[in-house]
Amino acid sequence: MLDVLIIGAGPCGLSTAIECQKRGLSAELIDKHNLVHSIYLYPTHMQFFSTAEMLEIGDVPFALSNDKPYRDEALAYYRRVAEHYQLAITPYEEALSIQKQGDSFIVSTRKRNGTEGTRTARNVVISTGYFDHPNYIGIPGEDLDKVSHYFREAHPYAGMNTVIIGGSNSAVDAAMELVRVGAKVSVVYRGSEISPNIKPWVRPLFEGMVHKGKIALHLESSVTDIQEAQVTISSLSGKEQIIENDFVLALTGFRPDRQLLASSGVKLDEEMEKPRFNPDTMETTVPGLFVAGVIASGRNANEVFIETGRYHGRLIAEHLAGHPAES
Ligand SMILES: Cc1cc2nc3c(=O)[nH]c(=O)nc-3n(C[C@H](O)[C@H](O)[C@H](O)COP(=O)(O)OP(=O)(O)OC[C@H]3O[C@@H](n4cnc5c(N)ncnc54)[C@H](O)[C@@H]3O)c2cc1C
Repeated sequence: MLDVLIIGAGPCGLSTAIECQKRGLSAELIDKHNLVHSIYLYPTHMQFFSTAEMLEIGDVPFALSNDKPYRDEALAYYRRVAEHYQLAITPYEEALSIQKQGDSFIVSTRKRNGTEGTRTARNVVISTGYFDHPNYIGIPGEDLDKVSHYFREAHPYAGMNTVIIGGSNSAVDAAMELVRVGAKVSVVYRGSEISPNIKPWVRPLFEGMVHKGKIALHLESSVTDIQEAQVTISSLSGKEQIIENDFVLALTGFRPDRQLLASSGVKLDEEMEKPRFNPDTMETTVPGLFVAGVIASGRNANEVFIETGRYHGRLIAEHLAGHPAES
């Protein structure tokens, strides 16, 4: 029987598989899409805030001429790592539920062609990230075709009235790219200032664009209604403004898939949807079931990054093997 089934082939799932393999444990990965799908979904031209070194897994060097990689460089790096370690990855197989049966787990899965099946393993690691589940705002019109919760590239928005909802790095990066292609950009954010976590080299550029009137920044405000040709912006003070609009980018963050965690019987902290686990081993309240990567932080996605989540696999593998890796 397989020692470890890893659900989710993001950077932290890959790192877990490598650490298990290094200690002689059999490990396989399944992914709903393909490896590092979350990075694939990043904006096409995005540059990481982390240096390449901080994104390395499995002791494979991520050598670059510039220190911070772009999305396509990271995609190539993780493909190379998976190939180097010949990881057993089955893409396009989604885990639907996890049941403990005696000393092992039965994981129900569904392939892209709709075929359902099961997989069995002694231990299971959930490393499904959060990028598949946007935080929906729950306002009228959010389901219109003109609304997207992902930003890929600016070109489709050239010359268009575009409202961006959010005040984090994603919103700020998207707003600046949109200005560069000639979109008319409004950023609507409920906070009294944009996030303090904005990349320090980006903040002055963004503020400069706001100052020059290239971006209309609505702070302490939210979009309360979206229609085909307009949106309503309401401020905390109760003022309402209706502006012309072609597209809305609702960049309001993501949340973990609670359903899969709940199916396994793991106890969750209700408020933050954070699974309970032992931080020394990453083992949850269900013996043999582990979490790795950003899923461990529940809705507080800023608690774990690739930089930190890449070490979870080592804790899991050392615990399971009962010894460090043989070098
Ligand atoms: C725009 C942007 C920029 C970022 N920049 C940085 C940075 O510079 N540095 C940094 O450290 N972090 C950065 N992050 C955060 C980083 O992307 C996440 O912390 C990281 O992806 C978490 O890795 P993970 O392996 O836990 O999960 P993910 O990378 O989200 O991988 C999860 C995988 O699980 C799969 N999956 C989901 N559900 C299922 C299921 N039911 N069955 C099977 N497979 C499933 C998904 O397809 C996916 O491939 C950034 C995030 C964003 C959005």
